Amino acid sequence: MHWVDVYAEKLLKLSDSHLVQSGTGISGQPHLGSASDIIYADGIHKAIIEQGGKSRAIWIMDDMDGFRKVPGQVPKDFKQYLGLPAADLPCPDGCCGSFVEHFTRPFLKNLERIDIRPEAISVASMYKDGKYDEVIRTALEKAEEIKTILYEVSGSKKADDWLPFFPVCEKCGKVLTTQAYAYENDKVQYRCSGGVAGKTNFPGCGHEGEVGIRDGKLPWRVEWAARWSHLGVTCEPMGKDLGAAGGTYESSKIICERVFGSQAPMPVPYEWIVIGGKRLGKSVGRILTIGEMIDIVTPEITKYFFFRSQPTSHKEIDFEFAIPKLAEDYENSERVFFGDTDNVPEKEIDDIKRSYEISQMNGVPEAPGNAYSHLVSIIQTNLDLEGEIDWNGVLTTLKRTDNIDQMDERSKAKGIAVKEWLDGHAPENVKFSIQKDMPEVELSEDDRKFLTALSSAISDIEWEASQIHDTIYETSQTCELKAGQCFKALYKIFLGKNRGPKLGFLLASQDRKFVERRIEQAIE
Ligand SMILES: [Zn+2]
Ligand SMILES: [Zn+2]
Repeated sequence: MHWVDVYAEKLLKLSDSHLVQSGTGISGQPHLGSASDIIYADGIHKAIIEQGGKSRAIWIMDDMDGFRKVPGQVPKDFKQYLGLPAADLPCPDGCCGSFVEHFTRPFLKNLERIDIRPEAISVASMYKDGKYDEVIRTALEKAEEIKTILYEVSGSKKADDWLPFFPVCEKCGKVLTTQAYAYENDKVQYRCSGGVAGKTNFPGCGHEGEVGIRDGKLPWRVEWAARWSHLGVTCEPMGKDLGAAGGTYESSKIICERVFGSQAPMPVPYEWIVIGGKRLGKSVGRILTIGEMIDIVTPEITKYFFFRSQPTSHKEIDFEFAIPKLAEDYENSERVFFGDTDNVPEKEIDDIKRSYEISQMNGVPEAPGNAYSHLVSIIQTNLDLEGEIDWNGVLTTLKRTDNIDQMDERSKAKGIAVKEWLDGHAPENVKFSIQKDMPEVELSEDDRKFLTALSSAISDIEWEASQIHDTIYETSQTCELKAGQCFKALYKIFLGKNRGPKLGFLLASQDRKFVERRIEQAIE
């Protein structure tokens, strides 16, 4: 059974109604890895409904978290906001209402492109609207117990007067710099003497004052537990480090049960996405986003990347070299879905089909689509003078090579994705263009001998990829030349390069007369 269905079944044994939560810290543009949370949550949420249960999927914007580091895409002068809750920051480009809106709106828009639409909830507004009042009171009253739990699970020791609450300083507006030390009648007394987050020090302004319980936030481990309890969360995906022994989940679970008297949700630990051996995140120079991935592989293949294997299995992506391989993997599953199960182990068939099915956007298509790798060649041989896709040319080629006389929306979308990949990410060695005029290349006597023989050999074959390929190969043998050298001669006269895509397919995609004429020109 596919893993989303396994989780759904387990959850439905506990109750018939569920709340699947995901969440993202808003410290800048969310990267591709941040989408994992929401995509896994959505998969389980939909599987619960398919199995006849009730489910809601929510996405929490952690916008009360303090702003710790100025990300690359934000003006340097945002340094002045370090330590403030993210919710209090302005839009970095002056184009919308706030920092949070600026980064979450496009993120959610891109998730819509893969049909994921969780209810988005701002943590800052939950505090402001008093939704957390009850849990904050409980946490403050049971501060000693929380302190003990944190010490037992993670070994962290707090000061004697420590309280589980970070007021937003009335004077400097920061949340990373305050310590609460007294609590009475919904009022918290604090000093703004500075704090540490990660390895960074955030100096305070020295102010001492008093705020209400809506003007601050709970420490992360307490807040997570409070949220589960208050909202009734029953399932939540989380990065594997949070789920590890002694990690955040363990302490939050105990706080949830002992302090708030609620059940902690079923955790769905997942593996971080790796790129070039490094965890995809803020540490990697350029940020890869879910939107960029959808652009270069289509929505279906993007979802497939997340659903094809367990959330805990190794997930590596590379926008340069790995894309055609990922597409091919998807297309293999597509073939299995449509009944071609040769060489596929019996026990894997259902999982493969299900991974393919849940990756679809508007139901399953009637037939498999064009291969991504084919389109990589076809698109490059059919660009107009402006470098845009010439769709009539693409269709003419497909008629010739695949006997297809119309392109559906999916094939067209795949073609557009291929073009995006070629323009922005593809390695140089897959890029080529058919030279409209004979390129200036050096040909040896042997090359000419081969081309002369080929010129007559191809004149009476059917214009079809495998026949062209075989004829080239056989001609090289008749001429007693190395096949590699002969292929190279053809790449030279058509591409002006020594290498290129599969030659039979490349030539079959071209007009026969054009190919014959070019070979003649080369011999002359
Ligand atoms: Zn903006
Ligand atoms: Zn302050």
